Amino acid sequence: MRADGRLFSLEFFPPRTPEGMEKLRATRRQLAQLRPSFCSVTFGAGGSTREGTLATVLEIRGEGLEGAPHISCIGSTREGIRQVLQEYRSHGIRHLVALRGDLPSGTVDAGEFRYANELVAFIRAETGDWFHVDVAAYPECHPQARTPQQDLDNFARKVAAGANSAITQYFFNADAYWSFVDACGDRGLDVPVVPGIMPIASFTKLARFSDACGAEIPRWIRRTLEGYGDDAASIRAFGLDVVTALCASLLERGAPGLHFYTLNQAGLTSTIWQRLGL
Ligand SMILES: Cc1cc2nc3c(=O)[nH]c(=O)nc-3n(C[C@H](O)[C@H](O)[C@H](O)COP(=O)(O)OP(=O)(O)OC[C@H]3O[C@@H](n4cnc5c(N)ncnc54)[C@H](O)[C@@H]3O)c2cc1C
Repeated sequence: MRADGRLFSLEFFPPRTPEGMEKLRATRRQLAQLRPSFCSVTFGAGGSTREGTLATVLEIRGEGLEGAPHISCIGSTREGIRQVLQEYRSHGIRHLVALRGDLPSGTVDAGEFRYANELVAFIRAETGDWFHVDVAAYPECHPQARTPQQDLDNFARKVAAGANSAITQYFFNADAYWSFVDACGDRGLDVPVVPGIMPIASFTKLARFSDACGAEIPRWIRRTLEGYGDDAASIRAFGLDVVTALCASLLERGAPGLHFYTLNQAGLTSTIWQRLGL
C-alpha cells in the first residue's frame, strides 16, 4: 500500500510455454518500475495449472515484489485446497485472490465448494489471518446472478466470511462502480473495492471477453472501436484516452486504487499509469 493508502496492482496469467515465460519476465521488468503494491497471477482461466501459477508467483517474489496467487474452488475437494494453502504458506505467500472459478464446459462434478464465500470461510478456518484475502466484485452484476440485489447479498457473504478487500470485474461505466460502492456502504460492507481496469488493445478480443464475463462496452465506445476496423494504432490511441479518463475520474472521486488486467503486456498499462502520474 502506498503512503496515501491507495493500492495499485497488476494481474498476469501464467504462460504455458518457455517463450511465454521469457516474454512475461520482460513485461515484468518494464512494469516493476511502476512499483505496484502487488502482482496477482490467475489460476485456471485458459487452462493454466496450479504449478504455473505458483512458479510465476515465486518468480515475482524473487524479483522483490509481492505476488498473490488466484485460487479457485469449483471442482476442488477440501483436502486439495488444504494442501494448496499449506504449500502457499510454506513459501511465505501471504496474499490470495479467492474465487469460485468456472467449471470447464462438459464437467459436471462441482466438487466440495459451491461458491467463493465457502472458500473464504475455509481459508479462514484453516489458516486464520495468515492470508490477506481479496475476492471478486461485479459492479455490472455477475452473469449468473438472478438480480443485482442477490449478487450484492452474495458479495456480502464473502465479506462476512472474512475477505479483506475486493477487486472488480472490469467496466467502462463508472456509474456502475459507484452505485455498487454506495450499495456496499448502505450494507455496512467496509472493505476496499478496487476497480479492475482493462486496457483496450483490440476490439475483437475485448468484445469476446466482455460477452463472456458480462462487462458492458458502452455503445459509443463499441461503435467507435468498430469504426476503426483494422486500424490498430487508432484503436490503441482511442482506448488509451478512454481508459485513462476512466481511471482519472475514479481516482478523483476516491477509488481506493486500481488493479490492471495487463494480459501480460506492459505497454498500455505503463502508458496509462504514467499519464495518471501515479
Ligand atoms: C478480479 C477477478 C479475478 C479473477 N480471476 C480468475 C482466475 O484466476 N481464474 C478463473 O478461473 N476465474 C477468475 N475470475 C473469474 C471468476 O472465477 C468468475 O467470474 C466466476 O464465474 C465467479 O467467481 P466468484 O469468485 O466471483 O464466484 P462467487 O462469488 O461464488 O459468485 C458466483 C455466482 O454465484 C452467485 N452466488 C454466490 N454465492 C451464492 C450463494 N451462497 N447462493 C446462491 N448464489 C450465490 C453469485 O451471485 C454469482 O452469480 C476472476 C474474476 C475477477 C473479477
